Amino acid sequence: MADTPLPCPGQDPSVADLLAVRPALSMHAMDGLVLEDVPLNAIADALGTPTWVMSAGTLRARYRRLANAFAATGHPVSIHFAVKANDHLAVLRVLAAQGAGADVVSGGELRRAMAAGIPAGRIVFSGVGKTVDEMRLALRAGILQINVESAEELELLSATAQAEGLEAAVALRINPDVDAGTHAKITTGLANNKFGIPYNRAVELYAHAAALPGIRPVGLAMHIGSQIVRMQPYRTAYARLAALVHAIRARGLVVDALDCGGGLGISYRDESEGAPEALAAAIHAELGGLGTRLAIEPGRWLAGPAGVLLSTVILRKRGYDGMPPFLVLDAAMNDLMRPSLYDAWHGILPLSARDANAPAEAVHVVGPVCESGDTFGNDRTLPHMEAGARVALLDCGAYGMVMSSTYNDRPLAAQVMVDGNRWAVIRPRQPVEELWAADHVPQWVDQTLTPAGGGL
Ligand SMILES: *Cc1c(COP(=O)(O)O)cnc(C)c1O
Repeated sequence: MADTPLPCPGQDPSVADLLAVRPALSMHAMDGLVLEDVPLNAIADALGTPTWVMSAGTLRARYRRLANAFAATGHPVSIHFAVKANDHLAVLRVLAAQGAGADVVSGGELRRAMAAGIPAGRIVFSGVGKTVDEMRLALRAGILQINVESAEELELLSATAQAEGLEAAVALRINPDVDAGTHAKITTGLANNKFGIPYNRAVELYAHAAALPGIRPVGLAMHIGSQIVRMQPYRTAYARLAALVHAIRARGLVVDALDCGGGLGISYRDESEGAPEALAAAIHAELGGLGTRLAIEPGRWLAGPAGVLLSTVILRKRGYDGMPPFLVLDAAMNDLMRPSLYDAWHGILPLSARDANAPAEAVHVVGPVCESGDTFGNDRTLPHMEAGARVALLDCGAYGMVMSSTYNDRPLAAQVMVDGNRWAVIRPRQPVEELWAADHVPQWVDQTLTPAGGGL
């Protein structure tokens, strides 16, 4: 399972199991692993590894399934893609072309979403600590809504809006104190999390907001966590949200918009993914009768299954005394951080059909970075692979590239987008010199050494 401890640490899914539930991937005798209609070996041959590959067709198909699930309830929602999950301009553009807006959590993401062509009127701004500069940016851009997470932030936004001579459309983000049943590091809706306004303070703060200059409260927002595959936490949270709407309206105040947050989970290992139809039904049942606009902020569900990370086995290090061997990949925790950050499980498929058919064995899969946490999987059951074999790490389209760093002076990996039988580099591999190009050595540091220059 992805971000929660495994309920039963049974056998890993086989190559066939992994392929069966990933319609964009297929294994061909000659071409090996194919994403949409593009052999992934062709991309690795051209660009080397590690390389991220995003499937535009998968993004579109998932967006349509989500939008259709809500349309079928008779109460469409506006879908604001959580930019933090994957912020590449091409990804944002593919989703925007389907009608997606954006959920942003920084001034940088706001500017990026607009640079991708997402209209300001479809952008909501979340986050616990927006600076005055970021508030100003959002106000001047005229974005749809700012989701305010505290009384303190509300005061700051009021002062900023007044100084700008503008009015902020505000939703109060409520912390419903509901356990999303997911990994502690991605749970956001418990009272002891830093996110949102305490449930029992919401009515009072909403009334206060309505009286503040520069603030126009339009509704409420909620986001209880990520990688949620069961509907009960959503149902509980939305029922609490509905109760608040009634309590606020009883004060004669207007509640016109409900932002139901993101968090819908995907199938990383063998858990069943969160079904958009079930989420739509839960939202419709709990909130559909309130006569408000509805919005959601999915990130992982849309982008996660659309991306893979290609990597090559640098070497196979033998395990002594009965320990499994190590497969040392050329991708590492600086590329894909989720396994070391959340103990996340990612499927691993060989790119060659011959490797895929080799007998299974237990291996540890690690990266070359100097941290024990640089591990993609311990005791994984994988087909036997030797040095030089290529693999795809699956479901890396969300919280993958965006979390990359250049730790150990490892340049950011190349990025590719596939669409049908076409593919294109959407970001070249970072040149290694770029990693120190902006470093400045002060005059008073020893200047007698002569840099080796570019001749290495
Ligand atoms: C991260 C985040 C999301 C998206 O979460 P996913 O689990 O990727 O769907 C949505 N809304 C807010 C406020 C977030 O912080």
